[in-house]
Amino acid sequence: MELGADIKNLGFGLMRLPMLENGEVDIDQMCKMVDRFLEKGFTYFDTAYGYLGGKSEKAAKVALFDRYPRESFQFATKMPIWEAATPADMERMLQESLERTGAGYFDFYLLHNIASCGNRLERSNEFDSWSWIKTVKERGLAKHIGFSFHDTAAVLDELLTKHPYMEFVQLQINYADWDNAVVQSRACYEVARKHGKSVVIMEPIKGGSLATPPPAVAEVFKEADASISPSAWALRFAASLDGLITVLSGMSTIEQMEENTEMMAEFTPITEDEKKVYEKAVAKLNEIGQIPCTACRYCVAECPNHFEIPEHIASFNNYKVYGNLAANKGHYKWVISNTGDPAQCLECGLCEAVCPQKLPIIESLKQIVETFG
Ligand code: SF4
Ligand code: SF4
Repeated sequence: MELGADIKNLGFGLMRLPMLENGEVDIDQMCKMVDRFLEKGFTYFDTAYGYLGGKSEKAAKVALFDRYPRESFQFATKMPIWEAATPADMERMLQESLERTGAGYFDFYLLHNIASCGNRLERSNEFDSWSWIKTVKERGLAKHIGFSFHDTAAVLDELLTKHPYMEFVQLQINYADWDNAVVQSRACYEVARKHGKSVVIMEPIKGGSLATPPPAVAEVFKEADASISPSAWALRFAASLDGLITVLSGMSTIEQMEENTEMMAEFTPITEDEKKVYEKAVAKLNEIGQIPCTACRYCVAECPNHFEIPEHIASFNNYKVYGNLAANKGHYKWVISNTGDPAQCLECGLCEAVCPQKLPIIESLKQIVETFG
């Protein structure tokens, strides 16, 4: 049986838990959500060492591990390589996760957010996280090992070829990013399946953006079937793919829990006709003037400062389409803290000279700095 075939199609992402005014997790509310989730027959929980500064794992102990038999659910958490200053820190963080949760073992254990950006991939190679996580499984501390991934399909192909013992990949997949040049949802999914790996889907609603898409997109869905909400359309797109372990949704309220569990309990895969609805919706998204960067990265290689130009353009496009300034600005700030600030652009033009799309990169960066800087 393929890994994950016995797990239902909705996973509870514990990164956006309900919070109290004092900055602590609202445990009462979380317990109710956990109860509802399990009552409806769903069993997969996903967190990470760093979610909510460690409060997510600790809350899982109280709301889940202390209240339900260990074998009655699956629990996934992740080790953040960027927080490891030495190889020994990887083991320290694993032990801390085990202690915080009282889990005994993790059903799914992941290297968190493997990407070239911020030197994560480089460090995971330098510290050989790949061999280390293999020992986590060999020692019985994880049943299954994998990694969450934010890079190109070509990089994923290379990693899965080099590390065939990795059992699954967690990918950002949603209808808006399916053919997006930067995220490459479709291409990454196809590479994972080519290697015979099961997939956990993250960001099926694109961090909540697709719950309230631009009006023209919402209209497309409404016209097709007004009884299905935009977030349900988004979840159904993701959940209709083959080879999934589960589709994660970071739920914060009982209402979201009710809506998602109800919809996924009665889930029917999308039909051929419905595929055309998504195509129409994406066409509407594309009509919103975006900078047509294909993320080929020639400019990054050429730039003397190696600025993350495609990543900044992607944040800017995201902001233009969904209007979520805070999230995109936050991402931009994080990227520049790792890779350099385009406000320091030399205006040398080396990037523009190699851009196959002939984009006015210098002007675009100015606009981006003005918006997010
Ligand atoms: S113009 Fe700016 S972004 Fe382009 S290569 Fe020169 S320094 Fe880098
Ligand atoms: S060279 Fe042009 S198309 Fe390629 S990543 Fe840079 S800006 Fe985008």
